[in-house]
Amino acid sequence: MSMAFGMCETPGCNAVASLRCPTCLEIGIKGSYFCSQDCFKGSWKTHKVIHQIAKGENGNKKSNEYNPWPSYHYTGKLRPYKKEPRRSVPDHIGRPDYATHPEGIPLSEHAVRGSAQIKVLDDEEIEGMRVACKLGREVLDEAARACQVGVTTAEIDRIVHEACIERNCYPSPLNYHQFPASCCTSVNEVICHGIPDTRPLEDGDICNVDVTVYHNGFHGDLNETFFVGNVKPEVKKLVQVTYECLSKAIDIVRPGEKYREIGNVIQKHAQAHGFSVVRNYCGHGIHRLFHTAPNVPHYAKNKAVGIMKPGHCFTIEPMISQGTWRDDTWPDNWTAVTADGQLSAQFEQTLLVTQTGCDILTKRCTNDGKPWFMDKLK
Ligand SMILES: [Zn+2]
Ligand SMILES: [Zn+2]
Repeated sequence: MSMAFGMCETPGCNAVASLRCPTCLEIGIKGSYFCSQDCFKGSWKTHKVIHQIAKGENGNKKSNEYNPWPSYHYTGKLRPYKKEPRRSVPDHIGRPDYATHPEGIPLSEHAVRGSAQIKVLDDEEIEGMRVACKLGREVLDEAARACQVGVTTAEIDRIVHEACIERNCYPSPLNYHQFPASCCTSVNEVICHGIPDTRPLEDGDICNVDVTVYHNGFHGDLNETFFVGNVKPEVKKLVQVTYECLSKAIDIVRPGEKYREIGNVIQKHAQAHGFSVVRNYCGHGIHRLFHTAPNVPHYAKNKAVGIMKPGHCFTIEPMISQGTWRDDTWPDNWTAVTADGQLSAQFEQTLLVTQTGCDILTKRCTNDGKPWFMDKLK
């Protein structure tokens, strides 16, 4: 039999030692000798950190060993991280039909599916939309303030969830076709429908947060892309041009205009800057239903049906990509990413067609209505 000896780990002790840390032995860390129980206890606070590192529990570690789909070929650099458990909404908050449907099916939307008829809202309904959209804007502004380096998208989701509840709103994405969170967070190459997870935002990321709230029977829907820390100039350009695409499209909204014209305006501007327009996701009618007629494509020469009339409510939400317009979907069946892994940005507003043009119901109330990324330009 032989006995192993080492030098005591306690800084400055240097005594010959034969005691070994039992945790280190158990997880296979070599060394970790202590000369006495006192030295071991005295070193515990600093020593135990090596157990955490070995077990991968170190909060500062950058690597993410979580890989739920080993055979999926990712298009870009982003990876999924573990999700936080589903959040609940207190019983006193009114909710849409799909919130309690076991498969998250919006039966009221399905009832009018296939119809191109666009609802003309009456004064009371318009007031309902104004209120829901204003509350949605307040919630998105809370998310904007939280979108910082080191913050996880799950934390942003928590903030959005609580901001909804504080305002007596149900977070519309939650359980919509079983979507597992209260907002969509779409980072870098994610086009849309990213699921919040425990990945901390990194310096140079762009993060879109898409918020929809349901209040008193009406949905208000908006999104913005935010800069996280220091963003490269070419990425700033993508975000700027995407915002301009939305602004230019809003400028043509008035009674008598065709819904199909919106895509022509957006693609013209995106293409002039060398960017592409995502084709598989569109704007939509919105009021008592989350997604309904009209369908609003963002690409040119589309075949969208319908003419704008006062009292119509719908979203415009262009997704603009650096490279290809093509998308791919992660095996979670939600996260839409660019097919080439290059970045994509998005902005969305909910609009009401008026007698002379439109009201941007989800417009920011401060900073001249400008989006949050502009606060950080230059
Ligand atoms: Zn939308
Ligand atoms: Zn949205």
